[in-house]
Amino acid sequence: MALDDDCIFCKIVSKEIPSTLLREDDELLAFRDINPAAPSHILVIPRKHIAKLSEADPDDAELLGKLLLAAADVAKSEDLKGFRVVINNGAKAGQTVWHIHIHVIGGRPLSWPPG
Ligand code: 5GP
Ligand code: ZN
Repeated sequence: MALDDDCIFCKIVSKEIPSTLLREDDELLAFRDINPAAPSHILVIPRKHIAKLSEADPDDAELLGKLLLAAADVAKSEDLKGFRVVINNGAKAGQTVWHIHIHVIGGRPLSWPPG
């Protein structure tokens, strides 16, 4: 699968950069965010390099579904009663890593709307 040489998360996929892995399979990884915004803050990413949600292809539909289901599964393993699932898309929405990722955030009360 094509990895992007300049992408931090591709380097996490290839284990070039270590991470606290919670799960991995042939299509995705879940690991702890290095700078957690809550007691539980996990990132779920595909092995495949997709820069952002708005660049996903119709062929990625099944993969995107699996990412969401993995996010729910990880929240269950963390015993989170309530949790938030976030995808920041684009710099204006706060995206800083250009490899699609789902944030799973929980373990504290979460206010709405987000900033
Ligand atoms: P974004 O702002 O793009 O939605 O989220 C990127 C997330 O990746 C941030 O929450 C940031 O803390 C996390 N992050 C950036 N670099 C690393 C890293 O090398 N390891 C891990 N585990 N998380 C990272
Ligand atoms: Zn990547």
